[in-house]
Amino acid sequence: MRHAVAAAGLPPVRRVVLTHHHWDHTWGAAAWEAPLVAHRLCARFMAAEALEPWSHDHLRRRIADNPLLGPSYRARGRAVDDFTDLTFVTPSTTFEDRLRVTEGGATVELVHVGGGHTPDSTVVRVPAAGVLFLGDCYYPPPHHLRRPGDGPDLDLVASLVSDDIEWYVESHDVPRRRAEVEEALRAAR
Ligand SMILES: [Zn+2]
Repeated sequence: MRHAVAAAGLPPVRRVVLTHHHWDHTWGAAAWEAPLVAHRLCARFMAAEALEPWSHDHLRRRIADNPLLGPSYRARGRAVDDFTDLTFVTPSTTFEDRLRVTEGGATVELVHVGGGHTPDSTVVRVPAAGVLFLGDCYYPPPHHLRRPGDGPDLDLVASLVSDDIEWYVESHDVPRRRAEVEEALRAAR
């Protein structure tokens, strides 16, 4: 991602906003060498994760104790060759409900939405660009916490659609325009 930012001719990253604490969204944070901003709960969960004695043996032990952790913990093992390279950093700025951040002439609005995926889920509005970053906020809970009947939270998505936002960017799929999101919500109902 750092190389892509540089290749696109964008200015250096001055601040990193975390949408939630899940490892696939935070374990690379140290590479940015920029202050982190996150919800208070995100900072608390990250601090707890940083205390685990991460290693491939640790992953195996945790999966043996709780096989439901398998998908997440095996993915961590595939992502990290050598855990001595993994550096945990914690957010230097936290917030409770909302936070407006202005940096380099751009203003972004962080809004804590919580929800079933994880209680620290935060969305990031960039009104001047008409962009909303959803993180994973409407996804079901992670595999090891999922209950029968848990699915995507479409009511949450519907509550986030607004006229000043044209692009809806989630973390694990392509960006979608407002009309496409509205159509998908209609079709799902
Ligand atoms: Zn997640």
